[in-house]
Amino acid sequence: MNTKQTISKSKIWSWLEEVIDPEIPVLNVVEMGIVRGVEFEGESLIVKITPTYSGCPAINAIEMEIHKKLKEKGIENFRVVTDYKESWTTDWMTDHAKKKLKDYGIAPPDKSLKSDDFLANLKGSQKIVPCPWCDSMDTELESEFGSTACKSQYYCNNCDQPFEHFKCI
Ligand SMILES: [Zn+2]
Repeated sequence: MNTKQTISKSKIWSWLEEVIDPEIPVLNVVEMGIVRGVEFEGESLIVKITPTYSGCPAINAIEMEIHKKLKEKGIENFRVVTDYKESWTTDWMTDHAKKKLKDYGIAPPDKSLKSDDFLANLKGSQKIVPCPWCDSMDTELESEFGSTACKSQYYCNNCDQPFEHFKCI
């Protein structure tokens, strides 16, 4: 089958949206900004992905899921290429994706928190991550590593609940 003539890129994007990020089961790899491009090279389809951070163990799982999905859709001639030319940044996540992350109980990544000197000064060098449940700023870092290496574990002193924070890149 000639992949190029029978399947549009938008169709492929929509299939990739069915691939869930193993790190965050409420988000798909397109929303996460992990899929960087869908191209045809001659007869074969190239899907470019960039890991959420280099060495993130989830990238292998993501690659496998994409393989599975495309095969399931009947695509034979394709390659998944990991692209390290650009580094993934949280800016690639859509606002909608950040909102879903918060609803799931993970504080969304926020670059401004990292660079905000005023907030940083309040707790020494440690940045403040607002609680995704009650929006309180009275939170503490419990562990640099949450359920996966890409997340850190926090605790909210206001509503007494633990939550995870997706690390900024
Ligand atoms: Zn809270």
